Amino acid sequence: MSSDQSAVPADSTADDADTASESARATARKQLERAAAELDLDRNVVERLRHPAKVHEVTLPVERDDGSVDVFTGYRAQHDSVRGPYKGGLRYSPHVTKEECVGLSMWMTWKCALMDLPFGGAKGGIQVNPKALSDDEKERLTRRFAHELRTAIGPMQDIPAPDMGTDAQTMAWIMDAYSMENGETEPGVVTGKPKVIGGSPGRSAAPGRSVAIITREALRYYDTPLEGARIAVQGYGSVGGHAARLLDDWGATIVAISDVEGAIHDPTGLSVDEIPLHDEQPGAVTAHEGSSVSHLTNDDLLELDVDVLIPAAIGNVLTETNANAVQADLIVEGANGPTTSAADAIFRERGLPVIPDILANAGGVTVSYFEWLQDINRRSWSLERVNEELETEMVGTWNRVREEVAERDVSWRTGAYVVALSRVAEAHSHRGLWP
Ligand code: NAD
Repeated sequence: MSSDQSAVPADSTADDADTASESARATARKQLERAAAELDLDRNVVERLRHPAKVHEVTLPVERDDGSVDVFTGYRAQHDSVRGPYKGGLRYSPHVTKEECVGLSMWMTWKCALMDLPFGGAKGGIQVNPKALSDDEKERLTRRFAHELRTAIGPMQDIPAPDMGTDAQTMAWIMDAYSMENGETEPGVVTGKPKVIGGSPGRSAAPGRSVAIITREALRYYDTPLEGARIAVQGYGSVGGHAARLLDDWGATIVAISDVEGAIHDPTGLSVDEIPLHDEQPGAVTAHEGSSVSHLTNDDLLELDVDVLIPAAIGNVLTETNANAVQADLIVEGANGPTTSAADAIFRERGLPVIPDILANAGGVTVSYFEWLQDINRRSWSLERVNEELETEMVGTWNRVREEVAERDVSWRTGAYVVALSRVAEAHSHRGLWP
């Protein structure tokens, strides 16, 4: 591999790069066990759900712009499809591992079931630093990945979507590669596409919008007015940025935001509408100045005394080490898996409510479902319809989880898992085990 380009090839390890002290798979399994015990679920079903149905591992040789060839590793973990085709994002990151894809695919199974979508769970990605690739190299890598996965994905089989390091353009390349190999245009093979080829209005803002809706509902539940509520958001990207802007529009005070470079804090409130999101202008967060703005680290942001903390960047940022130092009154998980199970136990003991990722950021997969429906029906929806239906689905699911939390006196995470898992388990018991 060319020494000046630090994309991660197949033979490297992600051990040193992983921020996780606990793998996503280990966290997901512990969460499954906790909810299964609450539901007194059939052990045979739990045992099946502890394992993914399939994990595809593919080798991806790619010609670099200088004519050399590098080889990358890609994964697609397909956890469970008892309720419908597999659904989940694709990540391009040096930290992608098989274990991480498996854990994230399990979360997608619960997330789709929690939202009552007719999908199962999948997650995939390529162990690569996308910033070290040119657009042409990224396109070649993506098309090769789509080619290798061509028999594993499809509108009725497994439907990828964007995640960290991938975007609408990545999905467009996958759709094109898949369609060319199948001899017909298949927009429903991926979601999160550009609108002109079957993407849905409101898809990119949807996970952030759902985080904002759930934060609003949770504040109402805890009798804290949204107007003036002090909120800190780690990760001012697609999820965190859209959530921060919407909550600001609704009257909350966004006192801190961050990106990978660091955080900024303004106790009087940041004008987030004026700060470009990470993909609009990388580095804009730490470059932002103001008379009452101070600079913090990402770790400091997590420990600010605020009404709501929204970790919306990466996994495993709330750990055994910092859980006791968190001063927020409420945590709403924007990222997938930001809380380790040890931190979760500390928060439970402290009585600090944590609204789980599978509920808070589920707007992404919900609008992906709307997009898939639009593709299959060849009929597009207006932005107003998308946002109205998203609002209805999010509030309906929030109310369903709230009932479970009240009835069983459990955490929000366990309440959400109970709703999701009971649907998946019931589907398994009706369908049975074949052969
Ligand atoms: P993004 O790349 O748009 O934004 C990520 C943000 O986090 C950026 O501001 C980046 O600078 C910052 N960041 C990266 N590494 C960091 C670090 N080590 N410390 C602090 N900040 C860091 O990504 P996104 O799509 O917003 O995804 C964020 C999280 O939300 C991920 O966990 C992802 O799986 C999850 N998620 C995304 C979607 C989606 O559709 N985009 C849907 C549901 C969940």
